[in-house]
Amino acid sequence: MEKLDCRACLEEELIEICLENNIKKFRANQIFKWVQQKGAHDWEEMKNIGKEDREKLREILYLQPLEIIREQRSKDGTRKFLFRLVDEESIETVLMDYDKTLSRDRQTICLSTQVGCPVGCSFCATGMAGFQRNLTVGEITGQVLEVMRYLQKEDPEFKVTNIVFMGMGEPFLNYEAVLKTIEILNSENGQKIGMRRMTISTSGVVPKIVQLAKDNSQVGLAISLHSAKDEVRDNLVPMNKKYPLAKLIRACRNYQSITNRRITFEVALNNQNTSREEAKEFVKLLKGMTVHVNLIPVNPVQGSRVKRPSNKEISVLKEILEAGRIPVSIREEKGVDIEAACGQLRQRLECEVYEPINQN
Ligand code: SF4
Repeated sequence: MEKLDCRACLEEELIEICLENNIKKFRANQIFKWVQQKGAHDWEEMKNIGKEDREKLREILYLQPLEIIREQRSKDGTRKFLFRLVDEESIETVLMDYDKTLSRDRQTICLSTQVGCPVGCSFCATGMAGFQRNLTVGEITGQVLEVMRYLQKEDPEFKVTNIVFMGMGEPFLNYEAVLKTIEILNSENGQKIGMRRMTISTSGVVPKIVQLAKDNSQVGLAISLHSAKDEVRDNLVPMNKKYPLAKLIRACRNYQSITNRRITFEVALNNQNTSREEAKEFVKLLKGMTVHVNLIPVNPVQGSRVKRPSNKEISVLKEILEAGRIPVSIREEKGVDIEAACGQLRQRLECEVYEPINQN
């Protein structure tokens, strides 16, 4: 029988597995806490579970930690982790604003959901590297568990409080795995991260926007909009050719009519989308919706055609949106010096050999 990934199991699934294998029901609660609260790497760590049960469980479930093979620290407090996966693929995960001297109220981690990305946005290093595969639930959850475990060595109180699915990959192209990860991370006996503290960011996979409204109306939704004109957005976000703006905005309005939730629209500002005319189009497009627009001046990515606009252009765009009563903020860039900002994540493993740094 094929073994199951212990990190991908909900507590109720572990109960079923225990009962089917003549293991007492309360063990499921102990295992779930070891795995999802403490980030256990091995059955041997689970000291309150008898050897006999541990041996039985080892035959049914596997525990596959992710190896942290590089950690980079930005001068703004952002930390970036490069993980090696079991098949030698690699992904990056970003912890924004980490600084143990700051309030512990908000520690936001940006998770990857795919190895590479098939969407191919023109400003994005991940997209340029192509697509390899979807991440499993255990691999997405594992990013939180490994970062937590690693940082608790320097700050035992460290806890991830907020999640954004905004790293490598399009989360809605790995929809089931992302939704199950959210359920696991929200669990009372796991990380207990509030649904409203988790946000899925999509390039605009229209059918999943409405499906999310039905499946989980608590989790936040962010749309990578980038342009209010199809001819421009087609070039920036190829997903727009399949789901153009009219369809995307219709789905967002539909989502809002079901959930009553505000939607965040992300606009990576570059030399192609900062004209006055474009700004007016944003106002027209978003009128009547409950939204917040984040303007993010694009970060330099080697090999990309798009460039960062001037500060003057950015303020003009902001003023036009504000005049159109669209709530807007300019989002401070994080981790640019370690290539941890939007569109900068990529796989780095190919030419380098690393030893894991998170063993115990
Ligand atoms: S911006 Fe997001 S959706 Fe677009 S290519 Fe990069 S990872 Fe994929």
